[in-house]
Amino acid sequence: MIQERPGHIATTEEVVAELRRRKSFVMVSHVKPDGDTLGAGLALGLALEKLGKRVLYFQQDPVPRTLRFLPGAQRVSRDLPADLPPDALFVFCDMSDSARAGGFLPPIVRENVLDVDHHLGNTLFGALNYVLPTECSTGTCVMHLLRGLGIEIDAEIATCVLTTIMTDTGGLMHSNTSPDALELAAELMRAGADKERITREIFGNKRIAATRLLGSVINAMQFGRDGRYCWSCVDDATLAACGADGEDTEDMVNVLLGQEGIEVAALFKAYAGELRVSLRSVGRVNVQKAAASLGGGGHFRAAGLDFQGTLDQAIAAVDAALVQQGL
Ligand code: 5GP
Ligand code: MN
Repeated sequence: MIQERPGHIATTEEVVAELRRRKSFVMVSHVKPDGDTLGAGLALGLALEKLGKRVLYFQQDPVPRTLRFLPGAQRVSRDLPADLPPDALFVFCDMSDSARAGGFLPPIVRENVLDVDHHLGNTLFGALNYVLPTECSTGTCVMHLLRGLGIEIDAEIATCVLTTIMTDTGGLMHSNTSPDALELAAELMRAGADKERITREIFGNKRIAATRLLGSVINAMQFGRDGRYCWSCVDDATLAACGADGEDTEDMVNVLLGQEGIEVAALFKAYAGELRVSLRSVGRVNVQKAAASLGGGGHFRAAGLDFQGTLDQAIAAVDAALVQQGL
């Protein structure tokens, strides 16, 4: 039985002891999965399997096209078997809140929850919370656990962890690309991580529909707050006109942020009955706080939220929240 200590960030030793103690695991990724949530879960899961543990991989949404190359990705499922032992440990990866896993998980007692994450404002929803906001990715948090477990890093695990770093640093470009991250990336390449494949699958190889969609997002760019704020929108009609889908919007907000003089960018994604907003900042305005004030979350420079309301209401609410943060 894990002793609950509210607000306590678990040490590597505490988490390693719990991982050794349990026999069955469910690695849990967040909705609209990215390379960090999935790569971190697969890396830890593959390592635990090497120790003879039973590991399942839960994710509400299908694996995005760009991540299907990840070792073990084909084992990810929305369905869990009926014979799951009552003491299986659910390992939530890359989520500031358990609700980010979606609505398809069975009820889970807190005692069976391990929260591994690097977001600001993590709600510490697990019995054990291994939350390290200074890490560039959840996968690098997992690396500390793998070291603690004494696992040999094989090429598959290395590819999964390097994917988390490449994803969350934007291909080693964002400000979270620390010397530690670069050193670890080098070590992972030496262990056999397929960096070329990661680059091609996630950053290259664009679908023509996605490039058409980018053109439309760029055409629809709007500027405000004395040229410091850029936003654009995608809706069902735009997607249909380009032959694109939601996955093709991944990372487009960074193009908006890359425009001269822009401090904050927002992409409003109104499709399939949902309205989601991606926010990015060059570093002065805290978009995590802006997103959190509207029910979302994330990091200082990259955050997101789900909005209940119309597109016009969302644009107004996000603008006000950003101004509140000094935009
Ligand atoms: P993206 O814009 O790429 O969807 O998300 C950027 C960052 O914000 C990611 O770290 C993501 O986990 C976080 N994020 C996105 N949407 C939400 C949300 O609805 N709630 C919370 N808590 N975090 C979010
Ligand atoms: Mn992450």
